[in-house]
Amino acid sequence: MIKYKWSYLMIFFFVLPIMYGCSSTRVSTLPPIPKKYIKPEPEIIIPSTILSELNKFKVRPWKYIVIHHSASYSGNASSIDKYHRNERGWTNGLGYHFLIGNGNGSRDGQIEVGNRWNQQIDGAHAGNDEYNKYGVGICLIGNFENSRPTESQISSLLYLINYLQKRCNIPKGNIITHKNFRKTVCPGKYFPYYDVMARLR
Ligand SMILES: [Zn+2]
Repeated sequence: MIKYKWSYLMIFFFVLPIMYGCSSTRVSTLPPIPKKYIKPEPEIIIPSTILSELNKFKVRPWKYIVIHHSASYSGNASSIDKYHRNERGWTNGLGYHFLIGNGNGSRDGQIEVGNRWNQQIDGAHAGNDEYNKYGVGICLIGNFENSRPTESQISSLLYLINYLQKRCNIPKGNIITHKNFRKTVCPGKYFPYYDVMARLR
């Protein structure tokens, strides 16, 4: 009989506490999450040398910022410049003022400054005189009818819009997409317009 009692006591004092040990003790002993698992803010790629160059010259009285997608899987300023010169026959080449890469043809989130911005000339992106003359054209590489832009692209776009708004005094209400004034799907149904607007400072 004494032998049995000891085995019950063993169960109460040793086996059960091991099986159902106090959960709070367990949590407090967990190690902290290593830093490498915390997602860093996406990098904004615009060389400071370019930015200081941009700050030097006078800007035209721009009124709008018009957002586009390239409707292509890949691309960069040079490839689209060639296309606009050779296929469209535009002597000033690249129709947009800025491009934002997606990692295919240029780095993910890379901002490329077009010739039309450096020379402060009309864009050729809107298919509409008012928006070509007074709209700064920003094109994100990618087809957003199929997928969303990358987080780095959005991060660079926000940075660029903030810069242009301050530099050119453009109100938030004049930040628009191509399809806001023209019959087109550009910049695609997955472009997160309202999210971008909400995240603007
Ligand atoms: Zn467009």
